[in-house]
Amino acid sequence: MRAMLFEGVGTPLTENDLPTPEPGDGQVLLKVRTCAVCRTDLHVIDGDLTRPKLPLVLGHEIVGVVEATGRGAQRFNPGDRVGVPWLASTCGTCEYCRASHENLCDEARFTGYDVDGGYAEYTVADERFCFPIPAAYSDLQAAPLLCAGLIGYRSLRAAATSTRLGLYGFGAAAHIIAQIAVHQGRQVFAFTKPNDAAGQQFARELGAVWAGPSNEPPPTPLDAAIIFAPIGALVPAALRAVRKGGTVVCAGIHMSEVPAFPYEILWGERVVRSVANLTRTDGEEFFAIAPQVPVRTAVKPYRLVDANTALHDLRGGRVEGVAVLVVDPRIAIKKEHSATSP
Ligand SMILES: [Zn+2]
Ligand SMILES: [Zn+2]
Repeated sequence: MRAMLFEGVGTPLTENDLPTPEPGDGQVLLKVRTCAVCRTDLHVIDGDLTRPKLPLVLGHEIVGVVEATGRGAQRFNPGDRVGVPWLASTCGTCEYCRASHENLCDEARFTGYDVDGGYAEYTVADERFCFPIPAAYSDLQAAPLLCAGLIGYRSLRAAATSTRLGLYGFGAAAHIIAQIAVHQGRQVFAFTKPNDAAGQQFARELGAVWAGPSNEPPPTPLDAAIIFAPIGALVPAALRAVRKGGTVVCAGIHMSEVPAFPYEILWGERVVRSVANLTRTDGEEFFAIAPQVPVRTAVKPYRLVDANTALHDLRGGRVEGVAVLVVDPRIAIKKEHSATSP
């Protein structure tokens, strides 16, 4: 099978022919249709996440069709369309797994990091950690739901009591979560890089009541803020933007150093917390809600062999919405931008 392979920090992915994997016990073999590109993939390439399997097939927002099943795998049938998220497997027995916090499992393994992911024509996955994809979504539109959507949704739950919700960094996750938040009756305040007029306009089109630069305060104090951009300096900025008792949720897997800040901006029972990974329950809830909103995803498609270009564009801030690799050659490549279509 054709695969784009990561072989070490700082090197571009290389196009390779690898043996098609065999589904092991409890696994499904998937013919990959699409795989979204996540900022976490950049953190792996840059060495911010320090212990990837090598060589590695990146990609943890996979939409594929079941081609074969391994011994004991009974949940899906050949031909079923399923999604594979970041959480590849858990131990099931540690204190976190037993307490419904499998996202914090001591032995968790992650797709496109500990095990090969979806930047390839085929992949295998533990069937218990896959999700059926709602029929309303095309292969292209579904891919971003599997990380930007899922982990964004977990972050939104962490900001549960908020009416006035700030989103810092209006990219892949925020453009999905803004739609759910508006559907739930919240007011969304979108913070972008200074001078990012296009990003602010995009946020307003998706229902944000206000959009502005992250170095300016919102027009009214917020109940909660979610930081999707990997920039530590946004933590004190967001603390200054939330009211007493407000929560600041750091949603990314990696963030630059958080600068020192005066205690007074934390005082008043403000909370700073992170959100890590996902649980299968998050996924089940999210995939039930997404078609009801309905969440639309803005996607920019690339061929599998152009994965380096997609990563480069994501790094450079040239992707509005989500970059998605089209692995199945039968899927037409044209710019889909339907987040705002009726
Ligand atoms: Zn991701
Ligand atoms: Zn565990």
